[in-house]
Amino acid sequence: MSNDVLVVAEVREGELKKVTLEMIGQGAEIAQELGGTVNVVLMGSGVSPLVDSIGHYGLQKVYLADDPALENYTAEGYTKVLTDLLKETDPAVVLLAASTRGKDLAPRVAARLAVGLASDCTGIEVQDGRLLITRPIYAGKAIAKVTEETRPQMATVRPNIFPAAQIDTSSAAETVNLSVDIGDVRAKVIGLLKEAGERVELTEADIVVSGGRGMKGPENFALLEELADALGAAVGASRAAVDAGWRDHSHQVGQTGKVVTPTLYIACGISGAIQHLAGMKTSKYIVAINKDPEAPIFKVADYGIVADLFKAVPVLTEEFKKMKVEG
Ligand SMILES: Cc1cc2nc3c(=O)[nH]c(=O)nc-3n(C[C@H](O)[C@H](O)[C@H](O)COP(=O)(O)OP(=O)(O)OC[C@H]3O[C@@H](n4cnc5c(N)ncnc54)[C@H](O)[C@@H]3O)c2cc1C
Repeated sequence: MSNDVLVVAEVREGELKKVTLEMIGQGAEIAQELGGTVNVVLMGSGVSPLVDSIGHYGLQKVYLADDPALENYTAEGYTKVLTDLLKETDPAVVLLAASTRGKDLAPRVAARLAVGLASDCTGIEVQDGRLLITRPIYAGKAIAKVTEETRPQMATVRPNIFPAAQIDTSSAAETVNLSVDIGDVRAKVIGLLKEAGERVELTEADIVVSGGRGMKGPENFALLEELADALGAAVGASRAAVDAGWRDHSHQVGQTGKVVTPTLYIACGISGAIQHLAGMKTSKYIVAINKDPEAPIFKVADYGIVADLFKAVPVLTEEFKKMKVEG
């Protein structure tokens, strides 16, 4: 039985997502403790060129499942390919991203193999040869430490939590081409519609500017977009703003939206309900702009601005623009 760690690469539109390197970095630490190697599986169509960009991060092997049948993600097809690989290679640990795709794929694969799964992990240690996994529960109100009794030990990893692996040009991974069989896929993707004017992906962004009911209307999100442009940030929203129809649900941050862990989260006109905090509390720095000094968001904020956001946000935008010009 191997002590190897398998990282399931997160690929979107032919590009490797940053969380893949974060999982490789974390995987390397686990593998070192267990006395195994770190390997990656790349699934998709036309993903072979990515082997070059991923091959020099201290990996032993890159399993390549490059096939037109994997062009669009399907839960059934990807589950079959990954399950087949796990049955064949029997790794000790499998890491996937806690992304929309990873959250869909990981439980299906775990169910196929009848093994446990720890989702949305924010910490992983090795204790007595097994993973001791940290994960927020009850909308982030409590932290659970869990272990898994089954093999492989599977986990989905929250993006932006773990440091990315550093390139190691002295290492070169061996490529193992997989013969792809996606089995009997009953649900097929027939087309993808890209959001117009899409900016940085919310869950990947290093800076997120979010607006809540205090924005007072959809047109006022232009203020946040301007601030976001000055910072190279993504724009998020509270559920109140989404329920009011001001923003699309894909922008919602929170328990029933997306979980983000940027370096900087700027909450504008958001009260800080527990369900919102569940989606952004692990951000490194939180700035809150709210006219109510008693708003609960200030309890989690590193910096609080008690002000009318319609006055404060344009001032911030101007200052950030100046900083950019001055370099
Ligand atoms: C099962 C469940 C799941 C949920 N999931 C989510 C979720 O995923 N994400 C989420 O966000 N919520 C979620 N909620 C809803 C959550 O409980 C809150 O209702 C919601 O987060 C409130 O949004 P808000 O802070 O924008 O609005 P409010 O609570 O109304 O707060 C608006 C804030 O704006 C401030 N404000 C107003 N005007 C200005 C101004 N001019 N300048 C500065 N500040 C101003 C006010 O002082 C206030 O603090 C969920 C609720 C339930 C029950």
